[in-house]
Amino acid sequence: MPKIYLIDVTNRDGVQTAKLGLSKLEKTMINIYLNEMGIFQSEFGFPTTRHESNYLQANLELAEMGVLQPIRLSGWIRAVAADVDMAFRLVPGIKHLNLSISTSDQMIIHKFQGKRTRDDIIAEMVEAVATARQMGAESIGVNAEDASRTDLDYLVRFGLAAREHGADRFRYCDTLGFDNPFSIYETTKALAENLAMPIEVHCHNDLGMAVGNSIAGARGAIDGGQDAYINTTINGIGERAGNADLVAVVLALAKSKGLGEKCDFACRIKLSRAWRLANFASYAFDVPIPINQPGVGANAFAHASGIHADGVLKDPENYELYGYKELGRGTPHFVETGREIITGQYSGISGFSHVMGKMAVTFGDKKEADEVLELVRYANVESHKPLVEDELLFIARYPAIARKLLTMIPPPPGIS
Ligand SMILES: [Zn+2]
Repeated sequence: MPKIYLIDVTNRDGVQTAKLGLSKLEKTMINIYLNEMGIFQSEFGFPTTRHESNYLQANLELAEMGVLQPIRLSGWIRAVAADVDMAFRLVPGIKHLNLSISTSDQMIIHKFQGKRTRDDIIAEMVEAVATARQMGAESIGVNAEDASRTDLDYLVRFGLAAREHGADRFRYCDTLGFDNPFSIYETTKALAENLAMPIEVHCHNDLGMAVGNSIAGARGAIDGGQDAYINTTINGIGERAGNADLVAVVLALAKSKGLGEKCDFACRIKLSRAWRLANFASYAFDVPIPINQPGVGANAFAHASGIHADGVLKDPENYELYGYKELGRGTPHFVETGREIITGQYSGISGFSHVMGKMAVTFGDKKEADEVLELVRYANVESHKPLVEDELLFIARYPAIARKLLTMIPPPPGIS
């Protein structure tokens, strides 16, 4: 049975969203939660962006330590040989890359403003792919940005050149959310048939169809005889109207009519992690989860009207397609209504020890406790909000990694 792989791009597309951002520790926690949920790959950042270097290196170390296993961590860069070179220079441990370049005439004419032809685009991409291969990349995806506004013949030419020079996957980017399920199905099926390589779909939600398009696009690739990769973000956070929501995509693949019989997840997805992951991302981005969000919205399992309430009490399947426990919901959530001790950037050892003690964390000696507290203070400076328990536990468990995540030194003047 053809396989569907999920590549979450929250730590790349999500964080490049206007008005939103994540601290390096929050990005790390997202990688950890994605790994626990069984997601195949996290596009974890930008290897040519200097302030990401320590974060990326630290997460690769977590992978080597077995903490971030088996998830793959991939970097996003422009499909330019110089950027590939820089990525390996700044993040020597990088193994997986996605190389991106615009393919539509709209972009070639109006973004590159006549400085590049269609042939130049292919030549530039091919050089970047070949360089990445040469420098030891284990897997390479090639992104056709604005693919949905690019004619099929050129996409095929572009994809074949990518494959010939060592690319492993073709990422079809519906950058503006222009596709609909019918159009993307036809295109990805044709691409799969013509390119004979796995097809990845990257869908945006400008017309409210990101999840539907992702499913239809993946189905097109599978019907064309290839494995499919779907890009998601947590809570659909992404540029403008966002991307395909991770939980909704998983639910659609697992629960929608007849789909589960046609394809299979490449990894065992633990849907029970969805609630925790979605709520952490909501807290970290400071963006509430919409009340009606599939699976994790406050109303996803709420019933008020007489007929529905009566029906669901008799048998949940009368009015619920899936159970709340499947998503990790249902355990009571305690909110402190009395005295609260918070650890922040100006906290002292007494309050900190109290907070950690409540989580049954003890330190070998005062020096160790002081060191962890200092890291917690710095993490708070970066995130501007109280750390959640999982973050505090992470810092206590991996202080050396946390130190690396929190270390950001701008390059000297003149270096860009
Ligand atoms: Zn995007």
